[in-house]
Order: sequence, then structure tokens, then C-alpha cells
Amino acid sequence: MYPDSISSADIVAAFTGKLPEGRVLAGNLAGIDYSHDEAYAVTPQAPVAVILPRSTAEVSTAMKVAGELGCPVTPRGSGTGLAGGCIPAPGGVVMSMEKMSSILEVDTENNVAVVQPGVTLSELDEMTSSYGLAYPVVIGEKGASLGGTVATNAGGMQAVKYGVTRNHVLGLEVVLGSGEVIRTGGKVFKRSSGYDLTQLFTGSEGTLGIVTEAIVRLVPRMRYRSTLLVPFNDLTEAAGIVPLITSSGVAPLVLEYIDALSMDAITKDAGLELGVEDSVKARCSAYLVIVLEGNREALVDQDMEDISGMVAGSGALDVYVLPPTADTKLLEARDKAHWMAKANGADDIVDVVVPRSMMSKFMEAVSAISEQFSSLVVGCGHAGDGNVHLSIFQPDERVRHDVVRALLRTGIGLGGDVSAEHGIGKAKREDFLDLTGTVEIDLMRRIKSALDPKGILSPGNVV
Ligand SMILES: Cc1cc2nc3c(=O)[nH]c(=O)nc-3n(C[C@H](O)[C@H](O)[C@H](O)COP(=O)(O)OP(=O)(O)OC[C@H]3O[C@@H](n4cnc5c(N)ncnc54)[C@H](O)[C@@H]3O)c2cc1C
Repeated sequence: MYPDSISSADIVAAFTGKLPEGRVLAGNLAGIDYSHDEAYAVTPQAPVAVILPRSTAEVSTAMKVAGELGCPVTPRGSGTGLAGGCIPAPGGVVMSMEKMSSILEVDTENNVAVVQPGVTLSELDEMTSSYGLAYPVVIGEKGASLGGTVATNAGGMQAVKYGVTRNHVLGLEVVLGSGEVIRTGGKVFKRSSGYDLTQLFTGSEGTLGIVTEAIVRLVPRMRYRSTLLVPFNDLTEAAGIVPLITSSGVAPLVLEYIDALSMDAITKDAGLELGVEDSVKARCSAYLVIVLEGNREALVDQDMEDISGMVAGSGALDVYVLPPTADTKLLEARDKAHWMAKANGADDIVDVVVPRSMMSKFMEAVSAISEQFSSLVVGCGHAGDGNVHLSIFQPDERVRHDVVRALLRTGIGLGGDVSAEHGIGKAKREDFLDLTGTVEIDLMRRIKSALDPKGILSPGNVV
């Protein structure tokens, strides 16, 4: 990428020379932790150095140094990504945003928060709760950073009601590859002023600029919630009822599916007994978990009754209203599904999205693909969004590649896409490039080179 004459020591010296003390880690300090994220199949890569900026000005200075050297820079939040996006390019540096971790403002009149990128979702949740507000992007990994979630356009369980990250990002401060600092958007919900750069950077996975501040929209925190657990004979039946629920006029906060194998594993691990009779368990191969919320208990109860009646009349084996502690524990256990699958030997995870009306068809195709390639494919997902997370158990890399390809092709064929929320990064780059139109990819590449002409931001990610 950059001239052979420049050694690692020269690179470290160039950054150290321009930044305050303590901002550059090199050698062992820049090792293991910064060489990977949580992706399954991306080879870790140690960076030449890790830059730990404490201000936007320092990010800008570091980008100017990188530009002069032609040195690749890969931003990193908490390293919880599932697409290998924060893994540095060979010979490049990691720009870790962990020290830029202040919540600068919670504005209760405009219902927005102004945050630095290193703030984690759990920190923002704790802070906003003291104001009776919430940042409704709630993903399975609460240690993820705001910068990382903006860069991947993270979704999570509550997207069915509140939408994904891009629906909540109102403005950004971004450092470009050149070191220039720009601000987009603001504390306003309506804008019609030229191209929407805020949305362009959201989901760009560190390839167009480094997010150094974000203005995000908050919502009032609701006081009451209620959770239904609904077992079904088969997954296609469970998926088939989702559009009925979402168009019923009741807006569920969470609408997840969990297949019986995954449910068994996560409840056993959490020591959780949900009260489902053995006779029902024996016939059940998938569950829906439906969470309702509101500010009036009676209204939540009414919604719960309406949804219970609807699912009971549509093939559900039974309907269970979970007691308050069990519902929290079940959602926590669901968050751990990823780790359970990994611990049980899963070889990859696929994050595919289809229109929710196509979920049943997609799940039928998943069974057929699983059989065709003699591979175990199980999972859970954000059913309300048509977003399926499938764990693939297939140690043979070549066969696994074919399984993933078949799943993605089927999803696209049904009107879906290669990734709903984990992003492309390095893990899904080949699939993304092969399965997306050449004109679209070419346009993305032209956007990339307009914003980062030297190609130093996160090379190897996305396009
Ligand atoms: C157990 C588990 C559960 C998960 N559940 C969900 C889920 O429900 N929904 C979901 O959407 N995801 C989920 N994820 C994936 C992951 O948590 C998200 O992708 C998250 O957005 C990554 O945030 P991070 O701070 O760890 O980013 P990182 O992994 O550090 O980086 C992710 C990407 O963002 C870029 N980036 C990071 N910071 C910046 C910045 N400041 N400016 C520009 N680019 C930047 C990186 O270069 C990289 O491309 C889960 C992961 C795990 C391990």
C-alpha cells in the first residue's frame, strides 16, 4: 500500500512525532486485542500501531500524517463487530476511539444526545434513563460503541418498533481521509438541504470518514412492558404470522423468533424455566417472543390480550405470558445466542434480511439448503424485520461457502439483501461484490474515491 522504504518504526515515529504523549501504542501493546473483532472467518491482523486520540483535532492530525505516509487507517470502536470491519489492513494502523467516550449533552427539550464515538450503548442507556429517555437502538452486545453502531448501521431487537441506527442519527462530526473535519445535520428532525451526508456516513463501515461525534435522537422511556412466548409447530408457521401482528395496529417493541434447538440451548445455559409443558415442547420447533410496551398498564394489557387472541387463532400451540423476571432473563439469554452457537461449534453466522412477508418462504428454503448440503443451519432472528441470523455448522470451508452463498442468493431472490445489520466488512465482501449489481458497486467505488482519494480509510472493507 505504501512505499517499501517506510519501516514500521518510521510509521510509529511519524505518528508519535505529531501527537501528544501516550497516543500511540506499538509493538506488543498494539497486539492481540486490536487484531480482531468477533467475526468468525476473518484472519486476525496485528496493526503496526494503535492510535488513541482524545480529541477531534488529534484524529485530524493523525489522518494528515497517515495521508502523507499513504498509511492505511482502520477505525475501531469496541471490536464487537461480526464482519471483520475493524481489523486493520496489513501494514496499517488502528484508530481506536475508546478514549473519546464522553456523553457531551442530553438535551431534554429536543430529545437528543450528543455523544463521542467511544461511548458504549450501555453507558448511553444508563445516562438517558436518569432523564426518563432512551436511545432505542438496543443490540445483543451492549458494549458496542456509538461510533461502531453508526458505522455499521446497527439494528437489534427493537428495530421493529423504533427503526435502526440510521433512523436515529441526526448529525455527525466526521474526519475525512484528508484530515478535514466536517459537520453534517444537527438537532433537527427535518432537513431538505442538499445531499444527506449524515446518511451517507451512517453504515459506511469506516471507509468514508471517522465519526468523532454524533447527535442521536432519543425517545421517551416507557413504564410498562409485557412479554408473550408463543410456541409453534414449525418455523414457517411462526414466520407466517409475523405480518399479521405488525399490521394489527399494535406496535410490538420486540418480535423475535427462536428455533427450538436454539431455545433449548439458551434456556439451559441460563438455567431458565419458562413453564412450557413437555407435551408442547415435544411438538414445537419454533417460538415467537413478543414484547409490548406502553405508559399505561391497562393499554399494555389490552394489547397483550389482542395479540394473544390473534396468535392463538392462527396455529400457535399455546400462549404464555412471562412473569417480569423471566422475560428479562429470556431476552438476556437471547442476546447470548451468538456465544452459545460459537461455544457449540458454529462455523459461521449469516445475517440475511428478506421482506417480512417472505420469511416463511425463506425459512422453507433454509431447511432445503440445510438438507442439500448436509449442514446444520439453526438460529434466531429479528422476525419483525425479516432479519434472520443463522448459525452454520459445517467445518468444510468449501461446502460452507456454498451454503452461505445459497442462503444469500435465496434471500436476494425473495427481495432481501446480503446484510441487515452486521455489515459487509471483510467477512461478506466477496458475497456482497458478487451478488450486487456492477453499476451499483461502481457507483459506490466512485463515492469512496471522491471522499478518500488516497484509499487509506479501511482498505479491504466493503468495496
Ligand atoms: C454477542 C453479539 C451480539 C450482537 N448483536 C447485534 C445486534 O443485535 N444487532 C446488530 O446490529 N449488531 C449486533 N452485533 C454486532 C456488533 O455489536 C455491531 O456491529 C456493533 O455496531 C459494532 O460496534 P463496535 O463498537 O464494536 O464496532 P467495531 O467492531 O469496533 O467496528 C465496526 C465497524 O465500524 C467501524 N468504526 C468503528 N468506529 C468508527 C468510527 N468512530 N468512525 C467510523 N467507523 C468506525 C469499524 O472500522 C468497523 O468497520 C452483535 C455482536 C455480538 C458479539
